[in-house]
Amino acid sequence: MTILVLMGPPGSGKGTQAEVLAGRLGIPAISTGDIFRAQVAAGTDLGQKAHRYLDAGEYVPDELTNAMVRERLEDTSSGFLLDGYPRTIEQVKVLDDLLTAQDRQLDAVVVLEVDRDELVERLLLRAQLEHRSDDTEEVIRRRLEIYTDQTHPLIEVYSGRGSVLPVVGAGEIHEVSARILALAETLLQQNARDKGQVEPGRGTGDG
Ligand code: ADP
Repeated sequence: MTILVLMGPPGSGKGTQAEVLAGRLGIPAISTGDIFRAQVAAGTDLGQKAHRYLDAGEYVPDELTNAMVRERLEDTSSGFLLDGYPRTIEQVKVLDDLLTAQDRQLDAVVVLEVDRDELVERLLLRAQLEHRSDDTEEVIRRRLEIYTDQTHPLIEVYSGRGSVLPVVGAGEIHEVSARILALAETLLQQNARDKGQVEPGRGTGDG
């Protein structure tokens, strides 16, 4: 069972890479940004509460986000890939508690690294193509700022646990995917060995 977190600033390609990676690993990609946008579009109670935060580029309050993630993670026995969660230290604690309660462990936090200039360029281009309500210049600036303040420090928290895989996020989509997959596969094999599980087709067990 594989459990991964994909982290990175707005515009780093998290959503795109989450889908590729999850597809390859056969686990669901859970994107909190996508879930919030779907809730807003459907006009649900959560959507109505989250709406103004998304439009302003602010984080949705932890209590709303955590409740939504708790519910979504209940039925994920084959593992999962989180895209856009955790983003605050409070969310890290909630994820830790959830995993502990289920006797499961995070395999790795993949961090996509992209220069600030390139991020802004990508986000402004996406604004023209997709018309996302939070892709205006002012809101983009706010999203980058809040990422730096609240989410970037989490990399150090996870580094302290030895679970961070930094990946260069510049280049073509398939190049970035190949980098992530190579690292993730090596790590997952290592984790499986550490847990005493032998990958199918590897080793006979009797030396
Ligand atoms: P990006 O990372 O490119 O800004 P996302 O689609 O991941 O875009 O997120 C869009 C918005 O959804 C965020 O700006 C925020 O308002 C909300 N959101 C997503 N994930 C979280 C989270 N873990 N905590 C709080 N708010 C979140």
